[in-house]
Amino acid sequence: MENFKLEKRGQVSCFSIPSFGHKDVYHGFSTRLNKQENFVEILGLKEPLYYLNQVHGNEVIVVEDQLSREKNKVSSLPGDGLVTSLREVTLIMFSADCPILFFFDTEKEVVGLAHAGWKGTVRGIGMEMVKTMEEFFNSQSKDILVGISPAIGSCCYEVGEEVIEKLSGILENWSLTCYPNSQGKWMLNLKEANTSLLEKAGIRRDNITLSTHCTCCNPSLFYSYRRSRGEKGRMISFIGLRRD
Ligand SMILES: [Zn+2]
Repeated sequence: MENFKLEKRGQVSCFSIPSFGHKDVYHGFSTRLNKQENFVEILGLKEPLYYLNQVHGNEVIVVEDQLSREKNKVSSLPGDGLVTSLREVTLIMFSADCPILFFFDTEKEVVGLAHAGWKGTVRGIGMEMVKTMEEFFNSQSKDILVGISPAIGSCCYEVGEEVIEKLSGILENWSLTCYPNSQGKWMLNLKEANTSLLEKAGIRRDNITLSTHCTCCNPSLFYSYRRSRGEKGRMISFIGLRRD
């Protein structure tokens, strides 16, 4: 599927997923071209906003009516997946190198976000999202579109042996997602690993849009945890459903 597309919305530059261009869904992935303080205001994101205490796990939180009344509680919940069918609420996630997975069930009109760093990836966060959508919303995997955000690429993502070991425990064709560099260290393609895991969960590859951007290689566009050795800036991912 077509790459993420950089576009200007008013004063804000953000990436969007062409296949998510449905009238009922709004979404985006911010860049560092904008001052983030008034990002919510400028984009006119629908409040309430929901975000989690991201902990590199595989817990998925469903935002439903009851939870939506306890807005402040949600931001303190540990978790790495958010999913909802409620309208006029916005799901938010933060990232600096980790892929953010965007989900949209075009039939049941359900949206979600997942934070998929290497730990979340090997703990199966992507597959947990699909499972939650199927169990909670009766989604069918064939109807689910996914976008995998700009994230650190295999060009820059050297990982230890333990990462590859864990990946091989969950993904049979793990060797297609990494390669040894000239020093014999592993370089991991986390976006590809997530794509393969999503396929395992029944998502069609045709329905997955992969951003080709590496956050570490593009300092003018992205914050990168690895490049900056821990600098604080992060990109914001958001998705929500409009009222009918
Ligand atoms: Zn790179």
